[in-house]
Amino acid sequence: MKPNNLIGFSYSRLQEFLLKHGIEPYRAHQIFIWVYHYKLYDFDRMSNLSKSLRTLLKEHFYVSLPLIRSRTKSQDGSIKYLFELKDGLTIESVWMPTDHRKTLCISSQVGCRLACTFCMTGTMGLKRNLSSDEIIGQYLAVNDSLSKENQVTNIVFMGMGEPLDNYDATIDAIRLMIMPEALRLSSRKITLSTAGQVDLIQKFKNEDLHVNLAISLNATDNETREEIMPINKKYPIEELINCLREYPLKPSRRFTFEYVMLEGINDRDD
Ligand code: SF4
Repeated sequence: MKPNNLIGFSYSRLQEFLLKHGIEPYRAHQIFIWVYHYKLYDFDRMSNLSKSLRTLLKEHFYVSLPLIRSRTKSQDGSIKYLFELKDGLTIESVWMPTDHRKTLCISSQVGCRLACTFCMTGTMGLKRNLSSDEIIGQYLAVNDSLSKENQVTNIVFMGMGEPLDNYDATIDAIRLMIMPEALRLSSRKITLSTAGQVDLIQKFKNEDLHVNLAISLNATDNETREEIMPINKKYPIEELINCLREYPLKPSRRFTFEYVMLEGINDRDD
């Protein structure tokens, strides 16, 4: 197999890889702890692994994070990160501090095919999906650039792209975010924002991930919503709401509805 980025590589796939090479699958646990808990990316320094396993890992894996091309600080204290990916395309993440939390808004795609009229990303069309390592990598690279007290506590999938449109990589990334051997974030601290892909919300509810769900609503009637969010033609508001009624919310959890006020379009009382 061609070398894979160990960041974003799933735990079960790593276990399969080890088994295939005659190595006990529990070594995956040790490898993950080195990479995600100790942030040690040099296989030669993973001292509880045998020399032959370290050599095998070096042959088949590497560890790489997206490159931070620039950081722009705003007056409110937030920092916009511009990342350059391996193929030269760029994505953004935004770190937003408050007294009690440090939230990172991450991207899931380069561009987006859903073409919401109020969104810059929507004007680009979809360039490509991000891989799970590029999604997780935003979190790791931002944390590496910040002091201990500013480490990210919450993640929101509200950057570039519709995360459910990049379904498999988003699911893999969320699993790594909440996994005790990987990022160890509580599912309560992760929010996935969707434009309302009803079929994919239905699929997502069976993943047993229990992260927060935010719905980008932006209008309360179909005519207005269709005008600014073409996805509404496929999944009108009633269908979206019915789907949410059947969503298995955990006790004390709620959906969030996002509403961008657009002058003269969706800012009337009626
Ligand atoms: S789904 Fe999100 S990223 Fe895509 S066009 Fe709409 S607002 Fe922009």
